[in-house]
Amino acid sequence: PDIAGETDRALIDGVLAGERRALAKAITLIESTRLDHQARAQDLLAALLPRSGGAVRVGISGVPGVGKSTFIEALGLFLIDQGKRVAVLAVDPSSTISGGSILGDKTRMERLSQRPEAFIRPSPSSGSLGGVAEKTREALLLCEAAGYEVVIVETVGVGQSETAVAGMTDVFVLLQLPNAGDDLQAIKKGIVELADIVVFNKADIDRHAAEMAAAQMRTALTMLRPASAHWKPPVLKASAAKNEGLAEFWQSVAAHRAALEAAGALVAKRRHQALAWMWQLIDSGLRARFRDHPGVRAALPQLLDAVDGGTVTPAAAAQQLLGCLSHDYETP
Ligand code: GDP
Repeated sequence: PDIAGETDRALIDGVLAGERRALAKAITLIESTRLDHQARAQDLLAALLPRSGGAVRVGISGVPGVGKSTFIEALGLFLIDQGKRVAVLAVDPSSTISGGSILGDKTRMERLSQRPEAFIRPSPSSGSLGGVAEKTREALLLCEAAGYEVVIVETVGVGQSETAVAGMTDVFVLLQLPNAGDDLQAIKKGIVELADIVVFNKADIDRHAAEMAAAQMRTALTMLRPASAHWKPPVLKASAAKNEGLAEFWQSVAAHRAALEAAGALVAKRRHQALAWMWQLIDSGLRARFRDHPGVRAALPQLLDAVDGGTVTPAAAAQQLLGCLSHDYETP
């Protein structure tokens, strides 16, 4: 959407009134790389931040083909039937390479996207994973300010994006296929350890296989460190295509929330996530500043060669390069 020609006050009011068009424009503004847009986006976020926080934040992950979009669409329609408004966002690091995204395909979630109670937004498609995750996190806050009671953040079951999505949601869900190979992959990659709920989708294809896979996963989970001290991740079965298992799934989400709230752990989790996010921004900001620093740029090629050639130790080179930054902060 075009973001010029509307005052930001009107945009803020539009978001607060729950207008999808205003929300879409606001998200476009925060995704923009233009410096003037970024300044406006920060003002917008500051104005809307006090109105955020009200949603159940659900992360959903799984390998391509597991049925994420089918599951999210069925879940979204189920929640709308219960009178809720649902936003769907995505973190897809591959979108920065391909220019497309897991939610970019218009045919996905067609029924859900036609409902006025739903808001669906594809993954931001520029920048690093950190950049994409940061924009999605901000978009999530905007969706909350716009009054969405449930915000679902989808991600692909490959790479580091799971950690980023688990770090911005209240409950992290892993969708699995009912075959053992898939289990091992997710366990090896450490994704299972992030999961608060594991769902074996496509249970309609082979119910026995799904039950076997679920039993194996329950055993595997007893050997892993749980993501929360207050919650033992349940292993469920579902068929997104046949609308089965959604009520049980949502009950688990509610039970997880109740368990965390009873222990005061939900507020703590969100506070911890906000602080971790701040440190991440500081880390990436420092890195960017480091790489752009004239002193670093001047000294780097020679030092790289010297470390490569074994004439300077990595520690000495790092110290010298970091020294370039610290000169900026010395008081005269
Ligand atoms: P995603 O890549 O994880 O988003 O997966 P999709 O939602 O696009 O689903 C991949 C394929 O699996 C599609 O052809 C779906 O129709 C199918 N599918 C999804 N859920 C189920 C299910 O519960 N049962 C069966 N039989 N097929 C499913």
